[in-house]
Amino acid sequence: MTLEFTGQMLCSAGVSYFHVYPNGDVYRCLADYNARRPPMFNLKRDGWKGAVDPPVCDHERCYNACDLDWTTKWQVDGQGRLEKTFEGQRKDIEKEVSLLLCSQRLESPQRRMAYFIWSPTLACNYTCAYCGCAAGEKRVRHDFPSSYPELSVAEWIGIWSDILERFEYGILSITGGEPLLSEATIPVLSRVTKKFACYITSNISRNIMEFTRSSIRPRGPSEIEGFGQVPVGLAGINCSLHPTSKGFNWELFKGAVLLLQHAGFHVSVNYVGYPLQLYLAPTYKAWCEQNAIEFTLSSWQGVDNEGTVARYSLPERTFFEEIAPSHRKKANELVFMECSYDVMFDDPVTHVLMADILTLTGRIRNLSPTVWQVGSGPGRWSVAGYLTRVGQRKKWLRELRTSPLDCGVPQNGELEFALRIDTGGLPAGTYEVWVDMLMEGQYWMAFHGAVPGAATLRIETFSHEIAVDADAVTLSPGGTAVLTGTVRNTCSKPWPEGAGAEPLKLGARLSRSSVTGEAVGEFRTPLERLPETPEDMVAFRLVLDPEELQRGEYALSIDIVKEGQFWLADKGATATVIPVVVA
Ligand code: SF4
Ligand code: SF4
Repeated sequence: MTLEFTGQMLCSAGVSYFHVYPNGDVYRCLADYNARRPPMFNLKRDGWKGAVDPPVCDHERCYNACDLDWTTKWQVDGQGRLEKTFEGQRKDIEKEVSLLLCSQRLESPQRRMAYFIWSPTLACNYTCAYCGCAAGEKRVRHDFPSSYPELSVAEWIGIWSDILERFEYGILSITGGEPLLSEATIPVLSRVTKKFACYITSNISRNIMEFTRSSIRPRGPSEIEGFGQVPVGLAGINCSLHPTSKGFNWELFKGAVLLLQHAGFHVSVNYVGYPLQLYLAPTYKAWCEQNAIEFTLSSWQGVDNEGTVARYSLPERTFFEEIAPSHRKKANELVFMECSYDVMFDDPVTHVLMADILTLTGRIRNLSPTVWQVGSGPGRWSVAGYLTRVGQRKKWLRELRTSPLDCGVPQNGELEFALRIDTGGLPAGTYEVWVDMLMEGQYWMAFHGAVPGAATLRIETFSHEIAVDADAVTLSPGGTAVLTGTVRNTCSKPWPEGAGAEPLKLGARLSRSSVTGEAVGEFRTPLERLPETPEDMVAFRLVLDPEELQRGEYALSIDIVKEGQFWLADKGATATVIPVVVA
C-alpha cells in the first residue's frame, strides 16, 4: 500500500507518531529508519525533542502500511497553503481512538496525544528461519541501527514517566525482537497502561505470569478531558505462534494464551505463512477458533536465515488465499506480484585474477506482464546481484548494485546493465554471479516468481618460488647487504603483466618483526628476463640499503612486483620471508 506524492507533503509523523528504539533513538517513521536516516533525537542524550508542527516529508512517497495507518499528511503548495489532506488509514478501525489521530488538522495538529511504537530490544530467544529482525543478538547489533546499547530498566522507567507527563493520552504498541526479553517491558507496561491504550506483540514464551500478577490491567474505559471516553490498559496481546522455531512448546503456548484470555486480556494469534509451516496453519487455526481466539495468517516470502530464496508456488499461494483473512491479502499485493525476465550476459564465463575489479555486462529482458519503473528511488527497480561460491548459493559473499537513471522498461523491452565486482579478498576458485532486479534495497523479483540469471566467474591465482642464498641477514645500523638467489615461475601460465610497459621486477619489503606491519624500507631489482616454467631459474641480485634503522628484528618479504599496481602475493603467490637483524 503506497501513497504517491505530487507536491510538498507535511506529515504528523514526528509530532504525534514515533518509533522508539532500544538505545533510546526516536525516528519519525519506519521510512526514515529503513532509509538509514539519522534519528530525530535520542531520549537518553537529548531528552524529548518531538516536533511541534508537522515537518516536511522528503521521501518520494509514503510506502509503509503501518506509518500510513496512523499518520496524517497534508499536501501544500509553494506558499504552504493546504491543497489536500490524507487522513491516516486506520480511521475506520478502533474508531474511538483512531479518529483522534487520523482526523487532525494542519492548523491544529494533535499535540496532546501520540502513537508510539516501542522496541525495548531487537534480540529474541527464538530462531525462526523467516525472521527478518532477530536472528541472533550479534547480527542484530551489527545490522540494525539503534539496537544497541539497550537502555537500562531505570532509564526506560524515567523516559516513559516523562512521556506520560508530557502527553495527556497515547497509544503504545510494543514490539521487538521479543519484547519480554527486556527487563524493562513489564515495569513500563505497568505504568503506561494506567494512562494509555497499550498493545504488545510477543512470542509469549517468557514472563507470562507477570501479566496476571502485576498491576497491568486489561483494557477499560477512562474519561480524559477533551478526549471523552477512551480505552486505557493493555488493550491487546498479539501472540505470535512460531512452531518451527527451536524452543517452541505448543502446550506452553496454548497454556499461556488461555491464561491471558482467562485473566481478561484480549488475545489474538498471529501466524507466519512461511512455506515450511504454511500447511500446519489449519491445525492451529482450528484450536484458536475452538477457543474464540482471532487467528491471522500473514504471508511470507523472501530470503530465510539459511539464504533460501522462497516464494509461494501456485498451490501454496492458493492455499494461503483460502485461509488468510482478506485484509492481509490486500496488504500483501507486492508479495503476489508476478515477475519474469531473461538475463543475457555478454560473457557468461569470465576469468579474472585475484584482487581484480571487473565489470560484468549484459541485458535483462522484461517478461513480466507490466512495465518496469527503473531507477534508484522508492518504487523503482534496478539491476542487482550477489556473488556465491559455485554450488553454495545460499551464502552470499558480495552484494552487487547498479544505479540506473529513471526510465520505464516496457514488456519485452531490454535494460542494459554493468555490474562492478571487486574480487579483493576472495580466494581463487569458481564463483557464480546471480543477477536479479531489486526495489528499495529489499524486494527482489526472485521473491515474485522471477528466476535470476547466473554467470560464472573464475578467480585465478599465480605462484612463484623465490630461493635466497642466505637464511638470514645481519645489518649494522646504516649498513647495506646484498642478497642473491633465484626465482622460478611455478604456475602453468605467464605471470600477469598489468598495465603499461614497465616490466615486472623482484621487490622486497622490510617490516618490523612481522611482514604484516608497515614497511620501513622497500627494495627493487630488475630481472634479466621472466622465468617461464618451474624448471626455468632466473638469478637475481638485490641490494638492501635501508635508511638508518633502529636495532632489532625485522622481516624481509621478497616477491614479484608490478610497480604501482600489484604484488603477486595479492594474486595468490606466497612471498619468501627471511629474518633481518639490525645489530
Ligand atoms: S509521509 Fe510517510 S514517509 Fe513521509 S514522514 Fe510521514 S510517515 Fe514517513
Ligand atoms: S519470535 Fe519473532 S522476533 Fe523472535 S525469531 Fe521469531 S520472528 Fe523473529
